[in-house]
Amino acid sequence: MSQKPIIYLDNNATTQLDKRVLDIMLPYFTNLYANASSNHLAGLTVHEAVENAAWQTANLIGAKAEEIIFTSSATESINLAIKGLANQNKKHIVTVATEHKAVLDTCLFMETLGFEITYLPVESDGILDLNLLNESITDQTLMVMVMMVNNEIGVIQDINAISEIVHAKNALFMCDATQAVGRIPVDVEKLGIDLLTLSAHKFYGPKGIGALYISAKAKIKLIPQIHGGGQQRKLRSGTLNVPGIIGLGKACEIAQAEMENDQKRLTKLRDDLEEGLLQIEGSFVNGNPLNRIYNTTNICFPGVNSETLILALQHISVSNGASCSSVTSEPSHVLKALGLSDENALSSIRFSLGKFTTEKEILEVVERVLSLVKQVR
Ligand code: PLP
Repeated sequence: MSQKPIIYLDNNATTQLDKRVLDIMLPYFTNLYANASSNHLAGLTVHEAVENAAWQTANLIGAKAEEIIFTSSATESINLAIKGLANQNKKHIVTVATEHKAVLDTCLFMETLGFEITYLPVESDGILDLNLLNESITDQTLMVMVMMVNNEIGVIQDINAISEIVHAKNALFMCDATQAVGRIPVDVEKLGIDLLTLSAHKFYGPKGIGALYISAKAKIKLIPQIHGGGQQRKLRSGTLNVPGIIGLGKACEIAQAEMENDQKRLTKLRDDLEEGLLQIEGSFVNGNPLNRIYNTTNICFPGVNSETLILALQHISVSNGASCSSVTSEPSHVLKALGLSDENALSSIRFSLGKFTTEKEILEVVERVLSLVKQVR
């Protein structure tokens, strides 16, 4: 194993915990360990801190604290949002082929409950055709789910236009914003989102804590997926993960203050990286290069097996697909949906930068990838 320090360009898989977030969490493991549901002074103190974290989380997305339900992850939030609607009369759901597996696999499960799911294709740049979306929604459509930022290619969908189409047809709009919240401005009111999912570990918060936003205006009645002590208005029972919740709140506060600067700095670094890597003959960027989040580039190096390259890169952490499926050598379903051949999909690498990425690291990555591709080819 190489002894060099890790260069971490896999921030869409997860991010490093911000030291300021850790510091604020630590007392909730030790002195402030009371159960947030207890009525004694210690419990009430913790309860107040949890309420503050709910407010911080809501504030980041333009919501109210009462519209936030804490979960263990975006995956759990997605499961609650979809399965929680299983008893509705309408039985048709529309989603997109490039969604995260947490959405797609939950939809497969809904099929076993008798739901009909429409999986819309995307254009070759990863953008959803809005006419197609409009045509796919019927009077039986309960909900439409479109992610804000794609985790593999970084493409950003036109959420405003999508929610207008969905609401004009009286369906609910759910948005998996797991790769967006904490990185780009998200306002659920302005964007017309009824249900939204987020996860702290994607923006320098701890793992094991996520949230589901449920619009009060939309009057959605979800069936709880976890029954028990009746915490969180009976929607998600279980003793609250207080340190996680406090960490999520702080990560939201920091994101709100620093997002703009991160965006400026990382856009330049990502563009430098891309310019350097595109010197490789035949290489190209997957997905729309303009409607794309600033920290991500997914590049195909035809004729180069991405797994071989990732192994050879050693101390440089990059990925070839969603983090949860990168141990498999199946071509990515997202890249296939863009129309890439299996070969090109298996020759593509995702580089995702984060707030701790430096210019020096980018220079080293470019140099290393250029020389390795030469060797491998
Ligand atoms: N949705 C998207 C777009 C993601 O990128 C991820 C994480 O990879 C998830 C959902 C699942 O998030 P979590 O790890 O919090 O379950």
